[in-house]
Amino acid sequence: MISAARNRLIKEQAIKESERQHELNVLKTRFFTNVSHEFRTPLTLILTPLERLMKNNLDKETRKHLDLIHQNARRLLNLVNQLLDFRQAEANKLKLNLIYGNIVGFIEQTLNSFSDLRESKNIELEFLPDEKELFMKFDRDKIEKILMNLLSNAFKFTPEKGYIKVFTELINRDGAERLIITVEDNGIGIEKEQQKRIFERFYQTDLPDEFVQKGSGIGLSLTKEFVELHNGSISVESEPGRGSRFIVDLPVDRKSVIDPQDAFETETLEPASLKESLSTSPREGKAPKTILLVEDNKDFRLYLKDSLQENYNILEAENGKAALELLVSRQPDLIVSDVIMPEMDGLELCNEIKTNSSFSHIPIILLTAKSTQQDKIDGLRQGADEYITKPFSFEILESRVEYLLNLREKFIKHYQQSFRIEAHTKSITPLDTKLLDKAVQLIQDNLSNTGFSVERLSHELRMSRVYLYKKLTALTGKTPNELIRLVRLKKAAGLLLETDMTISEITYAVGFGDPRYFSKLFKAEFKVLPSKYRENQGLTLD
Ligand code: ADP
Repeated sequence: MISAARNRLIKEQAIKESERQHELNVLKTRFFTNVSHEFRTPLTLILTPLERLMKNNLDKETRKHLDLIHQNARRLLNLVNQLLDFRQAEANKLKLNLIYGNIVGFIEQTLNSFSDLRESKNIELEFLPDEKELFMKFDRDKIEKILMNLLSNAFKFTPEKGYIKVFTELINRDGAERLIITVEDNGIGIEKEQQKRIFERFYQTDLPDEFVQKGSGIGLSLTKEFVELHNGSISVESEPGRGSRFIVDLPVDRKSVIDPQDAFETETLEPASLKESLSTSPREGKAPKTILLVEDNKDFRLYLKDSLQENYNILEAENGKAALELLVSRQPDLIVSDVIMPEMDGLELCNEIKTNSSFSHIPIILLTAKSTQQDKIDGLRQGADEYITKPFSFEILESRVEYLLNLREKFIKHYQQSFRIEAHTKSITPLDTKLLDKAVQLIQDNLSNTGFSVERLSHELRMSRVYLYKKLTALTGKTPNELIRLVRLKKAAGLLLETDMTISEITYAVGFGDPRYFSKLFKAEFKVLPSKYRENQGLTLD
């Protein structure tokens, strides 16, 4: 008896203890993530002005100091990023953000950022691509981190006057194209037994004492996760004392955009590729809105992303051109763009967006360091909805973002109720107003035509069905099919009150084929059956 009671007590205590441990772990994790974020913002704000300083003409001594600050601030940022990525990897939250672009050019750019290390350690870093260009889909952030990790290790484990070579090679295996990226060094090498384990989390080899930077042992495990996220693989070949070679093997997807025809084989109008725009539509309520950040300064972009991602989904592009490319497949609810950028600046981007009826509804906030009156006028003339001058406080940006998103939501509600736009709010362009009016007009003109389809509507509006779908859901929260139905039902409601037509007659007059089906849809929309609605003199319709 006593021992049974005691056993129970021990069991209960064990459960309590494990609950306490779990709670503690959750707290630790949260603290860890918060602190990492807190480190990242000031680090970014050290790096951004530092990089600006380093562009000046400097004497040798000052440059040496700044290089040292830069290297170490970057190392710290890299470590903090690794910690954050590691947390996400642990929670299975790593996401792939594939964008079409020249991966070989991108690798070269990343290597260039190692120029200061190369000089200070006197190590030769060579890039040997088999082709100058390869356009495919890849996640820039992840590929950059893969390279940063492999290169940082190579620099760390290669003595002065050594070499590091990076090769890229396009091969064909089993009828499929693969990109092989190799990072080779002639450093200290890795023992055979250890080669298997270096991709494990927290694994570190016993390093000779001269290596002060011991690292965290998560670099390669993260690298492996990033490679596998791309459906690729990573391996190592090495000989102690002679050097190491890390080989990344990636599948090549050259398809640039979703082909609208592919996406819309059937009438369902909800292909998987549009899930995102659906889930962020106001109909879904609480789903976070998506903001596209267009900014060429990577650190500043990171800072903005860091600050905004708590409340919004974030998409990124490094200039106007990349932003336009991204818009083909992803539609944000709002765009925050820098003005001065290479390839395509913010003003041009603004102009492109506001004159393209597929995108013109998206509000744009321009950020710029320039603050002359003329710029403001230029920006607003291109249709920017807001203009914020750098440096600004984050609160200002956030309140502007909120304001514009609310304005759009109000507009959508208003439009859903009336189908006529009385208020030409700031964030809706005349082009959008015209498009909506035209769409509603076309539907009304074809009321009794049961065959009037989304296809016809998009044809008449000279838009692809994909764009029409995205455009209407963004502007009204309704799909084209839903909009056609709603216009018909509203017309039916009017006929019920104003005429003596029977319900069957009305059914056919507004383009439905079956009175029973019509009644069902009517009830779903107005909460009463058509007959009741007529009886109540339309009182239930607000
Ligand atoms: P860390 O963050 O500690 O560098 P990694 O996961 O990046 O951890 O690397 C794990 C271990 O693999 C390192 O401690 C090192 O012993 C070994 N290693 C990685 N790259 C190289 C290399 N290029 N040459 C020699 N050893 C390497």
